[in-house]
Amino acid sequence: MGRVYLTGAGPGDIELLTVKALRVVREADVIIYDRLANPDILQEAKDGCEFIYVGKKDSYHTLPQEEINEVIYQSALKYDNVVRLKGGDPMVFGRGGEEGLYLHERNINFEFIPGITSAISVPEYAGIPVTHRGITVSFRVVTGHESRKEHSQIHWENFKTDDTIVFLMGLHNLKKITRKLMKIGKSKDHPVAVISRGTRPDEKTVIGTLEDIYEKAKDLPTPALIVVGEVVNLHEQLSWFEK
Ligand code: SAH
Repeated sequence: MGRVYLTGAGPGDIELLTVKALRVVREADVIIYDRLANPDILQEAKDGCEFIYVGKKDSYHTLPQEEINEVIYQSALKYDNVVRLKGGDPMVFGRGGEEGLYLHERNINFEFIPGITSAISVPEYAGIPVTHRGITVSFRVVTGHESRKEHSQIHWENFKTDDTIVFLMGLHNLKKITRKLMKIGKSKDHPVAVISRGTRPDEKTVIGTLEDIYEKAKDLPTPALIVVGEVVNLHEQLSWFEK
């Protein structure tokens, strides 16, 4: 029976892969990867390594999670070194926990290899610190996908604080998100950034306010994330990558 490495691939820039992730990729007999993991990483694999893609190119959604779990499990029965490569960090909206539980229930050995999450690194490439002395002492990372659902688990009232809020998977709900934040009392002039394809050569940041960001940013290519908070104002001075 093999060992499964539930591995973070980082946000896109291949150099943001950890040394440990690179080692297990080089030793892998099979790599199970999805849409957000930079496919250039696969070039590091040894000859004969099998690649299994579990994300659909043309849509937001990957294979049903149950099927992915089963692919990982079956791979562990067949190979010694199984790498499950996921964008960013496997435990930040990455379903790494669910995959770990599935393997645990089947007595498969596994390890987690943390990755650099887009939630922090993508704003950083855009010159937006998620915390900054004198501006905010905390930040939240929230799914923007939920807000589409009728019975969302998001408690919008919690966002009345000065926390920086980073929404992942939120571009398609940008209008809804900005409306909800204004509804709980945030000013229509509150700063917002949308960062598209962060840490990649075609990264693009659009800056706006709760009132106008939707019109400015709605057509940006994915993946994209949304940053809400006064820290967004630092982009003007700290932006470095897009220069
Ligand atoms: N586990 C991942 C997040 C998975 S959810 C992590 O830790 O980064 C997927 C969402 O992450 C996307 O919808 C988008 O909001 C965000 N994302 C991932 N990579 C990104 C990138 N390079 N630029 C902008 N947003 C990104």
